[in-house]
Amino acid sequence: MTHKTDIEIARAASKRPILEIGDMLGIGADDLLPYGHDKAKVSQAFIDSTKSKPNGKLILVTAINPTPAGEGKTTTTVGLGDGLNAIGKKAMICIREASLGPNFGMKGGAAGGGYAQVVPMEEMNLHFTGDFHAITSAHSLLSAMIDNHVYWGNELDIDIRRVVWRRVVDMNDRALRQITASLGGVANGFPREAGFDITVASEVMACLCLATDLKDLERRLGNMIVAYRRDRTPVFARDIKADGAMTVLLKDAMQPNLVQTLENNPAFVHGGPFANIAHGCNSVIATTTALKLADYVVTEAGFGADLGAEKFMNIKCRKAGIAPDCVVLVATVRAMKMNGGIAKADLGDENVDAVKAGCANLGRHIGNVKSFGVPVVVAINHFTGDSDAEVQAVKDYVVSQGSEAIVSRHWADGSKGSADLATRVAEIADSGVSNFAPLYPDEMPLFQKMETIAKRIYHADEVLADAKIRNQLKDWEEQGYGHLPVCMAKTQYSFSTDPTLRGAPTGHSVPVREVRLSAGAGFVVAVCGDIMTMPGLPRVPSAENIRLNDAGEVEGLF
Ligand code: ADP
Ligand code: MG
Repeated sequence: MTHKTDIEIARAASKRPILEIGDMLGIGADDLLPYGHDKAKVSQAFIDSTKSKPNGKLILVTAINPTPAGEGKTTTTVGLGDGLNAIGKKAMICIREASLGPNFGMKGGAAGGGYAQVVPMEEMNLHFTGDFHAITSAHSLLSAMIDNHVYWGNELDIDIRRVVWRRVVDMNDRALRQITASLGGVANGFPREAGFDITVASEVMACLCLATDLKDLERRLGNMIVAYRRDRTPVFARDIKADGAMTVLLKDAMQPNLVQTLENNPAFVHGGPFANIAHGCNSVIATTTALKLADYVVTEAGFGADLGAEKFMNIKCRKAGIAPDCVVLVATVRAMKMNGGIAKADLGDENVDAVKAGCANLGRHIGNVKSFGVPVVVAINHFTGDSDAEVQAVKDYVVSQGSEAIVSRHWADGSKGSADLATRVAEIADSGVSNFAPLYPDEMPLFQKMETIAKRIYHADEVLADAKIRNQLKDWEEQGYGHLPVCMAKTQYSFSTDPTLRGAPTGHSVPVREVRLSAGAGFVVAVCGDIMTMPGLPRVPSAENIRLNDAGEVEGLF
């Protein structure tokens, strides 16, 4: 049997006009700002009008540590949302927007896969409603205003060696990682070292995704630190007087984007911060609005549960005052086999022993999620090659860990394939057993927060940091930043900081190499290992195969 590609399935979708999708949620035509026929933004006035409504149930989809075999968090998020609607529940999904850089590199789409996708997938993976362009523009405005301030006399006394605000572009372009700016003579300013990050790594993105409204966004943007003086005191974006104009540029980007799934159920696709130096989930405004519009909201966090779910709980939920009612932990037989030592090329062969051997990683995530007081169900995202015996081995293991696993075939069968999962998830969410608490209180010192995450989530023995880093954290505490949560930036492939260490390692140390203050977004980043904020393209980028066919349709986008 030959499968249709994701883009073929998406193109064949019978979409309903976006006004009809809005109508299902009670959003009138006046409050939907259409971007073409199949996308719309939701007005702030409408969002404000929902504030007094009760919240629906919140369901977080997360996963084991990623392997090259693929896990399918977005696919499962979409499939579960459709499954809930199919069993008669009023459900919505909330996922992130896509970055152009990875799409032209190697990543694969951000809209789900198979018969569990949001549409229009081409647009969602390309310019969409222009949010990321707006973020690039707002970020660039601040970059330009900083150098302009220095050019016209530097009244703020910025030490140009200590400008920490970089530039951004939404492309994988390693040539721009480190640059020299302002070359070419007196008229071009003061030469200095600078560099580019990819747009999704911008603190503007993190601010937009954590802001509750435009006022809050403006405040966060103003609080961003852009440079330091010779005496090491910070210069803020508000000192540059950029916060107002940046907010103007982001006025529309702040509004959630409404689209639909292949089964015509509503979805918000909004925001997309990096999951390493930022928190990796869609915007707070989309999630909190969806909770007012639907009885069940299914959302996704980036990477594995050690990073994604931890940050969802300790950063997003803490800041937004929301709490998950159920966590769905996605696992695949193929990934279990890879964790059990099988090479990617051999994943097609049945191997129950390898599946069993690889389950330790899953078990650790189950325990971790439970430690937040949240019930967890494992979704086995079914691949066509999985054998019954292999699936049973995962189920048995999960039961031995005091949890339950349900096979879901949404990729092949859409909502018909996810009905069992949806039924159980709804039961758990409705049961009220969730008793969520973040891992650490606001008032815990910053270094101790890092230790808490390392010990409780990574099961490490210790956090290593030299005196310079510890002193920096103390300084920030004295300056009033001690209450902030910590955003861990480490490899997504392992519980440890060594990407090759699969399974459930113990006895490791977590070295913190650098700490960064995202004073606008509102977290302290602990960089543990080499973290890439400007990816490069692979030897053969997927862009080489992307083109328009004779009918004017996009080909090669997954
Ligand atoms: P994640 O959100 O975890 O990064 P995605 O849901 O985006 O993963 O899926 C990654 C890729 O794997 C997509 O191209 C999707 O089509 C594919 N995929 C997901 N689930 C399945 C499945 N059950 N069978 C085959 N391919 C799948
Ligand atoms: Mg995803």
